[in-house]
Amino acid sequence: MDTIVLATNNKGKIRELSVMLEPFGLKVKSLSEFPEIGDIPETGETFLENAFIKARTVAQITGLVTVADDSGIEIDALDGRPGVYSARFAGEDCDDHANNEKMLAQMKNVPDEKRTGRYRCVMAASAPNGTEIHTDGAYEITVGHGYKGRGGFGYDVIVIDPDHNCHVAELDPEVKNGKSHRGNAMKKLLQLWPDFWEKATK
Ligand code: IMP
Repeated sequence: MDTIVLATNNKGKIRELSVMLEPFGLKVKSLSEFPEIGDIPETGETFLENAFIKARTVAQITGLVTVADDSGIEIDALDGRPGVYSARFAGEDCDDHANNEKMLAQMKNVPDEKRTGRYRCVMAASAPNGTEIHTDGAYEITVGHGYKGRGGFGYDVIVIDPDHNCHVAELDPEVKNGKSHRGNAMKKLLQLWPDFWEKATK
């Protein structure tokens, strides 16, 4: 089985993406199996820059083909914020709950029809020989008024999937993966995968 690295420590992402990659005969290692790498500063100003910073750094250090994603949520009433800063919306070392509280507070007086936004994801793959590809995906949501559901991670407990009329954290994981920003970016990446893999392993 071919081994690739998923350049993330986020257990939610690893769960979501491993399920999609394993049918392709790919064994997935996470960043936690390479403690020597440590934290990779996400210094980019776009999802694309950050995804490639992570994918290139890990591919060069491990010598393995590496897939990295960068994702976040853009809220229309907040002029697209928090975007690339989604993980640290409430501060550098904040947790999901602090981010969710800040989001709900900032959206307190926003009427329902203006609570629109989307999750975005850029997925990048980088090989030690320099071969690279990237794709993107989006998932339209609205911001709810409180917490619901126990699934997913991050903002899923406070955002609503308008097609399913429930909070994203209430969706079955397969349903979320099937339509999410990351699911879509990964599906596109897998379409490019055979050609990429041939060049990556030459
Ligand atoms: P990243 O790890 O730098 O890509 O940051 C992603 C951040 O965006 C996460 O910490 C979450 O706050 C948010 N995010 C991205 N994708 C999702 C999702 O599918 N559900 C909930 N929050 C997400």
